[in-house]
Amino acid sequence: MPTFDQLGLRPELVEGLARGGFHKATPIQAGVLPPAILGRDVLGKAQTGTGKTGAFLIPFFQRFAEFPATPEPFGIVLAPTRELVVQVQEQAEKLAPSKEFKSVVIYGGVGFGAQLDGLQKGCHLVVGTPGRVIDHLQRGSLKLGKIQYVVLDEADRMLDIGFRKDIERILTHCPNPHQTLLLSATVPETVLRLVNRYLTDPVHVSIESEKPTVDKISQSYVSVEESRKPELLLKIFADETPRQSIIFCERKRWAEDLYLVLRKKVAGVSMMHGDLPQGMRNQIMAAFRAGKVKHLVATDVVGRGIDVTGISHVINYDIPEDPESYVHRIGRTGRIGADGTAIAFVAPEQGQRLTNIESFINRLIDPRAVEGFEMTRPVAVEEAPKPPAPMTHRKRYSNRL
Ligand code: AMP
Repeated sequence: MPTFDQLGLRPELVEGLARGGFHKATPIQAGVLPPAILGRDVLGKAQTGTGKTGAFLIPFFQRFAEFPATPEPFGIVLAPTRELVVQVQEQAEKLAPSKEFKSVVIYGGVGFGAQLDGLQKGCHLVVGTPGRVIDHLQRGSLKLGKIQYVVLDEADRMLDIGFRKDIERILTHCPNPHQTLLLSATVPETVLRLVNRYLTDPVHVSIESEKPTVDKISQSYVSVEESRKPELLLKIFADETPRQSIIFCERKRWAEDLYLVLRKKVAGVSMMHGDLPQGMRNQIMAAFRAGKVKHLVATDVVGRGIDVTGISHVINYDIPEDPESYVHRIGRTGRIGADGTAIAFVAPEQGQRLTNIESFINRLIDPRAVEGFEMTRPVAVEEAPKPPAPMTHRKRYSNRL
């Protein structure tokens, strides 16, 4: 892969990148940067973990010196979740080529105060979730009349969440011409429609053949009855002493129950799901990133896009029904340059889920030998319809622990 110097970046930018630990481009960066630096629109097909954030931030920074001093932003990045926008902004602050650079992050679920403050002071780049960006546009606190650079990050996911209308409204506020980069893990018809309407003669960059995270991760499963899952988890913790882990549960209440059990037995455990107040979610993520929280019991709210470098283990405590969600979850480990371990707990009636995941990732997942647990593979049969969530699940933990 080329060095950033070889890609023709400004020297102060190459220095900023080196300070942030970026010396060579990743494949998606090597593909996106040359056309983007020339001002072309780009459709980039890439998953998290490939360096896609850098792929869209670096061309913005390359143009940074051209932007005249004005309080209104030149660039806007839209991304689907609060965690992602925070992460993008952090990476922008880390890689910025100049101390002058200012960015503001905008997301819902928190008060407007800090965001209004930031916008009033002026910034070069706004990073936000579409819903809250619309709120600011309506209040008149955000002006997009100077925008020259637009990024739609995880476009497939933004459309899944139902942000299409918001995205389109935001784009109508951006003056033409402007440069647009659209990044998406998948490019279904819905994303293509967005591309056709809002990108001009885009260069397509795909790094499909690269599976940067999944192939480096050691994957295995253990067959286990629901009621023995806590016991199995503690056994694995005792055997493996994971440095840092995420333990994925299917439902918020299940995560809560497991957390209550686990925190009595293991140090440094915390929990994260979508019902927690945003402030608390931020705190927990910050503590997790800093390594103060070692083990995070979580729902899929952290399944996608969250980048914490030290995670050694991903436990699919509830094996997901959706194979894509499995890939996103295990992608939280084995980040660039590191190896990771992913272990899925498969209940006897969940064999079909395992099979679906294997055909999706196109490889077999090995059973894992854990003392006291059978190595039989659960049979792949159609699952019975899901039971209703509340109340019944408490029985899952009986009093084994
Ligand atoms: P992303 O796919 O943007 O979430 O990036 C995944 C991780 O790779 C982040 O921790 C980045 O800081 C890191 N990263 C991205 N690009 C590079 C690079 N060129 N060299 C080293 N690390 C990188």
